[in-house]
Amino acid sequence: MKRVLITGAAGFLGSHLCDRFIKEGYHVIGMDNLITGHLSNIEHLMPLEQFEFHHHDVSKFVHVAGKLDYILHFASPASPIDYLKIPIQTLKVGSLGTHNLLGLALNKGARMLIASTSEVYGDPMVHPQTEEYYGNVNPVGPRGVYDEAKRFQEAMTMAYHTYHNLETRIVRIFNTYGPRMRLNDGRVLPAFIGQALRGEDLTVFGDGSQTRSFCYVDDLVEGIYRLLLSDYAQPVNIGNPDEITISQFAEEIIKLTGTQQKVIYKPLPKDDPMQRQPNIDKAKEILGWEPKVSRAEGLKITYGYFKSLPEEKLFDKDHKNFEHYIK
Ligand code: NAD
Ligand code: UDP
Repeated sequence: MKRVLITGAAGFLGSHLCDRFIKEGYHVIGMDNLITGHLSNIEHLMPLEQFEFHHHDVSKFVHVAGKLDYILHFASPASPIDYLKIPIQTLKVGSLGTHNLLGLALNKGARMLIASTSEVYGDPMVHPQTEEYYGNVNPVGPRGVYDEAKRFQEAMTMAYHTYHNLETRIVRIFNTYGPRMRLNDGRVLPAFIGQALRGEDLTVFGDGSQTRSFCYVDDLVEGIYRLLLSDYAQPVNIGNPDEITISQFAEEIIKLTGTQQKVIYKPLPKDDPMQRQPNIDKAKEILGWEPKVSRAEGLKITYGYFKSLPEEKLFDKDHKNFEHYIK
């Protein structure tokens, strides 16, 4: 049986990846320190013999007994609210955490895939973003802790590939959504749906003309799975090119949820990218991949998930107590 280590396993994307690898017949080792994730995302896997969970901070030395075929490094705070609250941990997991896992991969002869992001393009001057674009990132702005950690992560991964001949893969993930996102993580989709469910107005930042392109989680997981098994070591964008302004997105959520609330406008956060849309020609050509789930379909499933959550989760605005981790 092939063995895969998935870091960030209790998070949104990590938990869906665990599901996929279990389904494909792998032995899955999930690792997480639960700083932004929750065990409820993987509790259905706990009884399985094929699954084991290690509560561990990957910024510290990582030990896993036995052989490993693959490592997928998905541990990192991912929402702007989270990484502003825990900036040092964000920098550490992208740098020290990545270094530890690359060392482990080398030691085990495992192939390593890292979760990079469209944030490496910063506030892009090229549209749509191709993998060749180097980006427009402010290293000392609020997003710098995340963006630069991810850029360092890519550089470190490529160095292990070049100097140690390690098998590596780099996925640049564009905004992805679906069940198991944290309702209060501040990202725009859970923010809007949470507001609609609580009967609050929807907060659009800036004038709402900034754009994003949202990918449903199942499509993303398929793209990642194909990339891992491919022989392509350069970065690949995975995302859905269907671009929308944030104002239009708020209107879609109002329609979907049937809320009587309205849109209110709040200041645009510093360095908030004005436009974002993946060019996915590489993914199409190399992986034969493209997204299949429309935003209408994906939003319906995701809304169903949020509606099914117990009421206390809806009003629990800060169920993550970051203070505990801040030394
Ligand atoms: P998430 O916050 O739901 O999951 C991240 C998980 O990593 C959490 O369970 C958290 O507890 C864990 N974690 C954080 N630091 C850790 C550490 N030091 N040691 C062990 N575990 C740690 O976020 P997500 O949306 O699932 O994002 C997962 C990955 O995908 C991240 O690397 C993120 O940068 C990347 N990504 C996500 C998106 C997206 O749209 N969801 C877009 C681009 C990139
Ligand atoms: N946004 C918004 N209202 C919110 C949360 C986010 O208008 O309550 C905007 C945010 O300013 C950004 C976009 O929605 O332009 C996407 O934000 P998110 O935090 O989801 O991810 P980003 O793509 O910025 O990392």
